[in-house]
Amino acid sequence: MYSAADAPPLVVEDLGRSYDQTRALTGLSFAVRAGEIVGLVGLNGAGKTTALRSIAGILPIQEGRVLVCGHDVTRDEVAAKRGLAWVPDDPQPFDSLTVEEHLEFTAALYGMRDWRARAEELLVRFELVEKRKALGGELSRGMRQKLACAQAWLPSPRLMLLDEPLSGLDPRGIRSAREAIRTLAEGGTAVLLSSHQLELIEALAERILILDRGKRVFLGTLDEARATLSPSSAGTSLEQVFLAATGALEPEAGGPRPSEP
Ligand code: ATP
Repeated sequence: MYSAADAPPLVVEDLGRSYDQTRALTGLSFAVRAGEIVGLVGLNGAGKTTALRSIAGILPIQEGRVLVCGHDVTRDEVAAKRGLAWVPDDPQPFDSLTVEEHLEFTAALYGMRDWRARAEELLVRFELVEKRKALGGELSRGMRQKLACAQAWLPSPRLMLLDEPLSGLDPRGIRSAREAIRTLAEGGTAVLLSSHQLELIEALAERILILDRGKRVFLGTLDEARATLSPSSAGTSLEQVFLAATGALEPEAGGPRPSEP
């Protein structure tokens, strides 16, 4: 067994979930290494948000288990949550706290000391300096997203979960958030990045996890995906690979079915 310090940032084993009659996830297993960006993609309803919310400890685990930095999110919830941060797809800050107070709140949650200098850097990085005194309820959608990023970046987590982190951002915000994600991984954080923006995934992710109707249909590098799903076209885009993996395009005749390489 690993000690917490050298345990992989994320291990997911046989994760499954149903909502009443809807089967949302089945037998999902994968791991993310320190410093690695894994892109999580799938059609609407494929189970991406369910997977992220389960890993983040927001949805109780029904089947399987999730280890964050070696800590089981069910049995060792606080230690697991200390190791991760997450940016939801539609962040909802507190109406009555200012931007600065949100950062203070986050620092308290993670038991951080000496966080103010980093918070200042993050206000600059996510273009929130002018909004530092604004209340959560006064922020636009894009600003809420930037605040959620600043809060998630503050504790320098070992695992970052990002659910469509760029969806509300303006072009300048997109550019700096992309750079921030890259820099985070270079600093050793494991990143699980869910997005429909395949060009973003293609640019940032080392490996891609494709979900289809709650099941993993591919996990590997883009090159491996090309070799598996369209062996004769080396330059195939992630979009074509994605469409083939999710059944919108048939794999080339004689080619294998999607699976882990
Ligand atoms: P999208 O790309 O549209 O955000 P997703 O891949 O994130 O989709 P999920 O939100 O995880 O997909 O949904 C997976 C399945 O679970 C879908 O069939 C969805 O309708 C169902 N589902 C999700 N949340 C709930 C809920 N709270 N109650 C009932 N069913 C749900």
